[in-house]
Amino acid sequence: MTDRAALPPSLQEIASCVSGYDPQALPVAQAQDFIARLVQPIQAIEFRPVRDALGRVLARDIVSAIDVPAHDNSAMDGFALRGAELRSDATTRLRIVGSGLAGQNFRGEVPAQACVRITTGAVMPAGLDTVVPQEFTQLDGEHVLVPAGLLLPGDNRRLAGEDLARGEAALSAGRLLRPADLGLLASLGLAEVPVRRRLRVAFFSTGDELRSIGEPLDAGCVYDSNRYTVWGMLQRLGVDAIDLGVVRDDPAALREAFTQAAACADAVITSGGVSVGEADHTKRVMAELGDVLFWRIAMRPGRPMAIGRIGQAPHQAILFGLPGNPVAVMVTFYAFVREALLRMAGAAPQPPLLLRAASTTALRKKPGRTEFQRGIVSRAADGRWQVAVTGAQGSGILRSMSQANGMVLLHHEQGNVAAGDEVDVLPFDGLI
Ligand code: AMP
Ligand code: MG
Repeated sequence: MTDRAALPPSLQEIASCVSGYDPQALPVAQAQDFIARLVQPIQAIEFRPVRDALGRVLARDIVSAIDVPAHDNSAMDGFALRGAELRSDATTRLRIVGSGLAGQNFRGEVPAQACVRITTGAVMPAGLDTVVPQEFTQLDGEHVLVPAGLLLPGDNRRLAGEDLARGEAALSAGRLLRPADLGLLASLGLAEVPVRRRLRVAFFSTGDELRSIGEPLDAGCVYDSNRYTVWGMLQRLGVDAIDLGVVRDDPAALREAFTQAAACADAVITSGGVSVGEADHTKRVMAELGDVLFWRIAMRPGRPMAIGRIGQAPHQAILFGLPGNPVAVMVTFYAFVREALLRMAGAAPQPPLLLRAASTTALRKKPGRTEFQRGIVSRAADGRWQVAVTGAQGSGILRSMSQANGMVLLHHEQGNVAAGDEVDVLPFDGLI
C-alpha cells in the first residue's frame, strides 16, 4: 500500500524513544507506546453518503455553514408570549391572536397583552420570547390564563444556533462517526462526508496442527478458531478484513502468504508460531521478509508477540504476529492491535472506559506484569458493580472469554486482590 506518510522511523529509532524499552520483559504500557509511534494514518480520502459514513473516520473538520436551528423556536406545545408581560403577583391574561405551527410560521404583528398558539419546533413570532406549555394554562374564550410564578422570560424557547452556530466546528477530523454524528451531519444539510478510506487488514493462522472447518480432525489437531475471533473483532472495527486462511508451517507457503498479505493490506495479523520455543518457520520467515521484533511482554495471557513491518516498500504493511492461544489472541488484539488499527484508520482513539467493580473473590496477582482476567460484571444487591472471574483462566480456554462480559484489568504494579476490593474492569460493550 502506498498512501501513507513518507519515511517512517526505523524500529530502532522508535525503541530509543520508548523509555525503559526491554524487548524481553516489555511492560504493556511501553508496548502500547512503541506501537503508537510505529503506525501511521492512511492518507486517502473519499466522499461517502451520510449513512455510509457510520463507523468511518472523518477526514476533515466539519464547520457549520448555517445556524442549527436556523431560527428561535418553541420547545413546547403551548402559547408564545412576551416574558416582560408576565405578572409575578397574579394570573396573566393574554389574548390569542393566531397560531404558528412547525413549518407554518405566524407572520403577523403581535399586539401588547397578546399571545400566539404555538407547537414544538415552530418559529417564535417576532417580539415573543417565552413559551408557556399548554398544560399549565386555562382557556377563557379568546384568552389564555397563565398562572403567576410559573415562568421566567426566555423559558421553553430554543435559540437560533444553540445546537450549532454558523462557523462553529461541528465535528473534528479523526472522529469515528456514530449515530448522533450522522444526525448532526444531516442537520447541516450535508449529503456527503469526507472519510478516510477503509483500512485493509489481512489475517491468517499458522500451525501444522490446525484444521479448517469441514476438514476431518486428525489426532492431535484442533480446529482453527482464531480466524473467526479475529474476523469478528475486525468486523467490529469496520475495516476490510481479508482472510488468507490457514498457512502450513512451510517456508514457501509462509513466504507466499506474507508477501501476498503485505501487497494487499495496510496491516497483517497472524496467530501462532511466535513463542520462544517454537520449532516452526513462522518467526524465521517474518524476520527474512521484514523488519520485525520479537517481544516477550510482561502480561498474562499473551506474552509472545511479533511486531514490525513486513514486505518490501512500497508493498509494506504493519505486522502484528499474535500468539496462538485463542484467549491470548483476543487479549493482545484488544490490548495492542485495536488501538493501532484505529490510529492507522486515521482515528484519534479515546482511552477505554473502565468500570470500578468489587471483586467477589480474592485474586492472586504478581506485581511486574499486567493481567487481563475474564470476568462477569453484575450489580450487587447494594447497587454497586461487582465482578466474578470466570473460573479457569488458562489462555487456551476460549469459553472463559465467551462467558465473560468484560476483562478484569490488573495493572503492572498491582499485587494480590482481596475479596471485596475494587478492581478496574474493561467492559466488552463499547470495546467489541
Ligand atoms: P503457538 O503460539 O503457535 O505456540 O500456539 C499456542 C497454542 O495455541 C497451541 O496449543 C496451538 O494449537 C493453539 N493455536 C494456535 N493457533 C490456533 C488457532 N488458529 N486456533 C486454535 N488454536 C490455535
Ligand atoms: Mg505453533
